[in-house]
Amino acid sequence: MELTNFSRVAIIGGGPAGSLTAYFMLDIAKQLGIHLNLDIYEPALYSAPGPKGCNFCGGIVSETLVQMLAMEGINLPPDVVQRGIDSYFLHTEQGSASIQTPLDEMRIAALYRGAGPLDCIKRSAEISFQDKVVYKSFDGFLQQLAIQSGANVITKRVAEVIREEPFPVVVPKGGEPRRYDLVVGAVGVNGGGIKLFEKTMPNFKAPQTTTAFLTEIFMDREKVDKYFGNAMHVFLVKIPHVNFAAIVPKAEYVSVILLGKGVNKESAKAFLSHPDVKKCFPDDIDLSPKSCQCHPKVNIGLASPVFQDRIVMVGDAGVSRLFKDGLGAAYITSKACATTAMIHGVSKQDFKQFYLPACKKLDVDNKLGKMVFLTVDLFKWIPILSKGMLRMVQREQQPNVSDKDMSMVLWDTFTGSNTYRSIVKRCLNPFFLTRLFWESFKSLLSRKSEAKIIDYTATEEKS
Ligand SMILES: Cc1cc2nc3c(=O)[nH]c(=O)nc-3n(C[C@H](O)[C@H](O)[C@H](O)COP(=O)(O)OP(=O)(O)OC[C@H]3O[C@@H](n4cnc5c(N)ncnc54)[C@H](O)[C@@H]3O)c2cc1C
Repeated sequence: MELTNFSRVAIIGGGPAGSLTAYFMLDIAKQLGIHLNLDIYEPALYSAPGPKGCNFCGGIVSETLVQMLAMEGINLPPDVVQRGIDSYFLHTEQGSASIQTPLDEMRIAALYRGAGPLDCIKRSAEISFQDKVVYKSFDGFLQQLAIQSGANVITKRVAEVIREEPFPVVVPKGGEPRRYDLVVGAVGVNGGGIKLFEKTMPNFKAPQTTTAFLTEIFMDREKVDKYFGNAMHVFLVKIPHVNFAAIVPKAEYVSVILLGKGVNKESAKAFLSHPDVKKCFPDDIDLSPKSCQCHPKVNIGLASPVFQDRIVMVGDAGVSRLFKDGLGAAYITSKACATTAMIHGVSKQDFKQFYLPACKKLDVDNKLGKMVFLTVDLFKWIPILSKGMLRMVQREQQPNVSDKDMSMVLWDTFTGSNTYRSIVKRCLNPFFLTRLFWESFKSLLSRKSEAKIIDYTATEEKS
């Protein structure tokens, strides 16, 4: 079962996984001298602000992904990147610390998946209605790359995927059924697209998910610059249901991201009224989420099976990375899927041999990720460990200190720049553990330990 000249490929879903799969398949096809007829089914309108063009995301592109894309010749354009993140603030109930990018380069990109928050047009009075696009969409940019490579985008939602053995058939809503040699499921975990495959693939189990809450706070550019600068803020605070909380500065807005089973509007209210969160904002900002908000699902597991003959799942619909770098996982699975389909074939056996290992690797790493997040939770509840961790970071962030073990571990945990495996390995190093326990012990003895440990480096720079 191989793709040959004029083979027909359908990609259902034109988010990052769908567009990148198309881009890689068409690129390999070109190198092999094969002409593919490749359709991407995607109803979203990436030039529209708000939900019409948005794929629900914090919009952090990890430094690893920025690099991997650059190596593919895909450089994120300046009008897509809303801010380059060069540091982050870690807030715990025992204090805060700033962590600079390990290599002193500004490489993490903060962007919008669609064309910005729902109210961004209303807020930009000087922009006429025709020039709708205030912020350029990342997903729109990737879709254009796929189109330039030869993909045909069909702006319809797919209603059904059926089989006319041995071929899969795609039935678009209000359109004619089409038969394909390969169907790629890049439907993510939101919007119900995953259900298409429950009917077509025997015993298909969609990936496990948890909930998230995402909202945008308008501040205007000057205030975002002054209060957040180029720093992402991560919070280890005790709020029910919240496993991970972060604030990411963009252009005129900041995105507030909460992840965890059962997070909802109430969790967002509790988070935004937490004293450690409020102090990051100017006093006159209205923190009630108004600009745009959503309550999407986040992938935390592997679909099973992730393929069958002529059907394969990529991105969130297949597997992702736990609580970080879902876009990086979309890249990894798209590339592995495209290579398998173009070079080896599209049978169940081909996907098992050449595609499954990439998915399994992410899945195994996520299991270690669960351990990492359990440990992070422990730090929330054991103040002495939190203090030890902050003291380690503050020492490491001094000029001329070369060992940055804790800073690197935290950077990689929250930015998605490295695997959980590598994080766990470094955390189990006896020297690392000894230093953590020693700093925790010292903070017990120190009189200062009664006060909050606060590193104002970044704030001072801002003012
Ligand atoms: C709150 C939140 C914050 C996140 N923050 C980050 C972050 O900062 N950085 C990061 O790297 N990752 C983040 N992620 C994860 C990231 O958003 C996903 O991993 C990524 O979007 C997966 O890409 P995808 O293409 O697989 O799926 P999606 O982006 O979900 O795209 C799926 C596409 O399929 C289309 N579709 C669905 N059903 C159909 C159908 N029936 N017919 C046709 N088309 C269909 C949809 O319209 C959509 O465009 C976050 C996730 C959440 C929920």
